[in-house]
Amino acid sequence: MIIAVDGPAASGKGTVARALARHYGLPHLDTGLLYRAVAANVRAHDLDPAKEADAVAACDFDERLLASAVLRDDAIGALASVVSAHPLVRSALFQRQKRFAAQLGGAVLDGRDIGTVIAPDADAKLFVKATPQIRAKRRHAELSARGDTTSFDKVLSDIRARDARDSGRSTAPLVQAPDAALLDTSFLSIDASIQRAIALVEAQRARS
Ligand code: C5P
Repeated sequence: MIIAVDGPAASGKGTVARALARHYGLPHLDTGLLYRAVAANVRAHDLDPAKEADAVAACDFDERLLASAVLRDDAIGALASVVSAHPLVRSALFQRQKRFAAQLGGAVLDGRDIGTVIAPDADAKLFVKATPQIRAKRRHAELSARGDTTSFDKVLSDIRARDARDSGRSTAPLVQAPDAALLDTSFLSIDASIQRAIALVEAQRARS
């Protein structure tokens, strides 16, 4: 079974995808990490993220980078949304994601274009969303817990900027697939979001 989980930053899609993977005993790929690795490589080599050729050169990153805590930085997330808008960066990372989705037994992938581009034939698709204010509140609490003093307003404006870039790009924009079930986590606890996600996947499996 292939499960596609898409949604904007801090919507809860990663938490939901990991929980679904545990629940169904499937391998999980956080595809955002691939774009974050490209972004970190761009930064490490002083390349220009706005230049497609520079960003493409950074796609050949060291696999060990995927485990680096650096990828969790908000600055890297913002840079990832710049490099991910280049069509050639997306095609450089395409096969790797396709292969992961096609492995025997299935997989759970989360990102922005899983249900639309990477696994359009997924057995179950979820689009996870929450209001920008609530997503900013979650991200701000996370940063504060790490000792980061970034203000709430800055976190909110960064989230809005990232949404605009991810939804406004011409290649593989962030959009709900027509056959994806919507999961709004704005007023749900983590546990309730996970239970709802499992129920939505079960409903889609029963239909197919
Ligand atoms: O999900 P995460 O916040 O780690 O993703 C970082 C950035 O990578 C996103 O803002 C988006 O621009 C890009 N991304 C993407 N397609 C994916 C996953 C992430 O464009 N499938």
